[in-house]
Amino acid sequence: MGLGSAIPLGYVLLFSSYALRVSWANGLLALQLLLVAGACFKPLSTLRGKWRLVVALGLLWIAVLTLGRGILGAFTDLYPSFLAPHPWNVAAMLMTNLLPLMVNFAMLGGWHEDAEAALQQQAITDELTGLLNRRGWLQAGKLLIANSNRTAQPMALLMLDIDFFKQINDTHGHEAGDRALQALGGLLLANRRASDVAARIGGEEFCLLLSGSHAASAQQIDARLRTALPQLAVELGFPINFSSGLAMHRAGQTLEDCMREADHALYAAKNSGRGHLESASGPGHPTCSH
Ligand code: GH3
Ligand code: MG
Ligand code: MG
Repeated sequence: MGLGSAIPLGYVLLFSSYALRVSWANGLLALQLLLVAGACFKPLSTLRGKWRLVVALGLLWIAVLTLGRGILGAFTDLYPSFLAPHPWNVAAMLMTNLLPLMVNFAMLGGWHEDAEAALQQQAITDELTGLLNRRGWLQAGKLLIANSNRTAQPMALLMLDIDFFKQINDTHGHEAGDRALQALGGLLLANRRASDVAARIGGEEFCLLLSGSHAASAQQIDARLRTALPQLAVELGFPINFSSGLAMHRAGQTLEDCMREADHALYAAKNSGRGHLESASGPGHPTCSH
């Protein structure tokens, strides 16, 4: 931006001296071009949407002007020499001066958007497992629940908590605990459908929001996850198990309502021997365990 303003300003101020104004303008233009050229080697530069359009329009204009010169030369005797103050020359000069500036802005804009998107993604992702974190879970979950309230589609919420996780940390070390979290996170990712939301909402607590699922299919998913546990134990070198609570979404309920019910069911599972699923009781929730 500094160069973009300095070039015309210096050009006007130094206009009385041909040598000064020409060296000023050309020197700074060359510097601007070098900056853009150097910027091409920086990572992350994916010019998207309007930024791509800015560059394309600049190039298009130069192409049109160049073509115009060609047509003038081919079909008329009006072809302007490079030094002639012909409107076509003036326009071409203006565009060649403007283009580096436009590309500069486009790259900066593109980077800004990339950085913002990466930051946004980071803010909703759990670094250890790659699942959504609590913030991402609340964002995505609220949308799905609102959708379910509108369409009256069934929706199941499974809340999982690793059993005796503190012991895993104490016995095998914190790093082994982290590997266990990653393994269970990977299992949830592998078993969820594209329309489901999987998240690590706290230390060793996970949530799955299963859209379009009745209680029976949520129970099936829980059972499927459990059948993978022996294999997980082989990979980890120690056994791992979890307790889970299931709540079915009822019309008008918020995500927090569902989470509270699933949490109660999970608590019941912990208090009745761990390592299994309990379903929330209450209206629309016949008490049952598996
Ligand atoms: P319960 O069966 O009742 O759930 O017992 P628990 O030991 O699993 O539960 P508790 O709440 O007593 O302990 C949870 C432990 O999880 C304590 C904490 O140090 C550990 N923890 C939380 N976050 C992480 C993490 O990111 N990595 C590791 N390795 N451990 C974690
Ligand atoms: Mg636990
Ligand atoms: Mg816990």
